[in-house]
Amino acid sequence: MLKESDRIFTNIRGEFGDSDLASARMRGCWKNTSEYLKKPPRELLEEIDRSGLRGRGMFAQKTAEKWLGFIKRPSAFKYLVVSVNESEPGTCKARSLLRYEAHRLLEGCLIASYICGIRRAYIYVRGAFREETEILERAINQAREAGLLGMNILRTGVDLHLFVHRGADAYVCRTDSAMFRAMEGRRPMPDFTCGQDTLFGAPVLVHNMETLCMLPSILERGAEWFSSLGRSGNEGVRLFSVSGDVENPCLVEETLGVPMRDLIDNYAGGVKGGWSNLQAVIPGGISMPCLSREICEHVRMDYDSLGAVSSGLGTGGLIVVGKTTDFVELIRRAALFFKNESCGECAVCREGSRLIYDLLDLISTGKGKRTDIDVLERLCEETSDTALCPVGVSGVRFISGFLRHFRFLLEERCSG
Ligand code: SF4
Repeated sequence: MLKESDRIFTNIRGEFGDSDLASARMRGCWKNTSEYLKKPPRELLEEIDRSGLRGRGMFAQKTAEKWLGFIKRPSAFKYLVVSVNESEPGTCKARSLLRYEAHRLLEGCLIASYICGIRRAYIYVRGAFREETEILERAINQAREAGLLGMNILRTGVDLHLFVHRGADAYVCRTDSAMFRAMEGRRPMPDFTCGQDTLFGAPVLVHNMETLCMLPSILERGAEWFSSLGRSGNEGVRLFSVSGDVENPCLVEETLGVPMRDLIDNYAGGVKGGWSNLQAVIPGGISMPCLSREICEHVRMDYDSLGAVSSGLGTGGLIVVGKTTDFVELIRRAALFFKNESCGECAVCREGSRLIYDLLDLISTGKGKRTDIDVLERLCEETSDTALCPVGVSGVRFISGFLRHFRFLLEERCSG
């Protein structure tokens, strides 16, 4: 179990109230900021590199490698965008981070921007997070007034202008280029024409907010401390949300590599009706392939362990599915979500997601045939191979996982 003294997110459950500068400072935020801004950016980058930090978003790229590639892009003007477009069913971290840890995020934005030579940053927040956006804007104003953002921060000569951009809840904006289009006032659709990501014509670095929140702690406590948590190649901590058929749905911070069963039993109060009542767990938001109970017994929650069982850590949002839950209905509803969220740019996802939903609807109501399951499987394979963006792939990946372990549940519903 993660020691109390190793926690990064000291207010993730709101024990100290909504984000506020005085309270955040008491918990260690903004403590050594001027010291960091006086060091050469290269020195800070090397510290982050040695920590082994990987992005806490979908792709888990090594943060220092991502920065090195970005720094090499030639441009006098560059942007940082923090993506807070959490809308994946079964994931519930963003509201808590914005509400309770906003100053940790702002300090992380400043550190990443300083290292990468960025002077203008946006936090892209989905429209549904109205109250949380107000709290975030208040935190930004507090930081500006205290000289922690804006021009000549803490008299170090460093500038960072940081703004909030409110989105309109399109799930496709989890694809970076669709988010940039939305920010530029255009229809949010992935853009594959320009090769490299640009916002307003300039290079842009995109980060998940959980990743940025970790930067101040790594610099303060050292790379060795961070890499001592977790496992080799999967260093550090992660926020996990646990929902579904558990006694106490929760959001917890734990080391990468924690056994899944420990998370469910020790933090979420166990599976409703006991472990023997467990049917499956979807380990990283609804788009990740589910795992059978036998796998959940021993699997660890990190990138490599979940990859080895043909699933993934994804958003770190566990959905626990008990035997009393109609799993076919759950999958049908998830397919409806992805059908509605397809942006329509490519036919394979636009039409495929509709056909997939129709087939699942047919089967779940007892009107389908066994041959429909074969068609469903082929549609998932083709969509996965040819969809233009990760949203299309996400929309079928969980069905492929379901078919791998629970095909028999669909067969039981078929009429012929
Ligand atoms: S895969 Fe789906 S969401 Fe992505 S571009 Fe194609 S239609 Fe749009």
